[in-house]
Amino acid sequence: MQAYMTQPRKRLITYLHSHADETLSAGQIAQDLPEISVSAVYRNLSALEQDGTVRKVAKSGSREVFYQYMKAEECKAHLHLSCKQCGKTFHMDEAETQALLDSVARVDGFTVDRSDTVLYGVCSECKKAM
Ligand SMILES: [Zn+2]
Ligand SMILES: [Zn+2]
Repeated sequence: MQAYMTQPRKRLITYLHSHADETLSAGQIAQDLPEISVSAVYRNLSALEQDGTVRKVAKSGSREVFYQYMKAEECKAHLHLSCKQCGKTFHMDEAETQALLDSVARVDGFTVDRSDTVLYGVCSECKKAM
């Protein structure tokens, strides 16, 4: 069965890559990729989540689970800001990440797992619309 998994997964990754700064629900993804069955979309997303290719994110006012594509290695080195309104993801640069984590480290020598941390808030665009 493994061989049959390869094609949809590749297609899924290509799709996620071209929507890298968006958060997408499995439903949206399935809609955009009619050639992949909904169950295959879910199956592949959970596999990709396990290997760190995508990350689950929450959006306010929605019970749906959204996914964000992690740009491979570079995204493991910095923190992400996620807008709760529009779901857009902002990538902090490494220097900003380090400065923030240095101040966090002053609290009990705390080390943040940067590949697993998202700061939720509201982006400037959404703030303007509020
Ligand atoms: Zn990133
Ligand atoms: Zn926003």
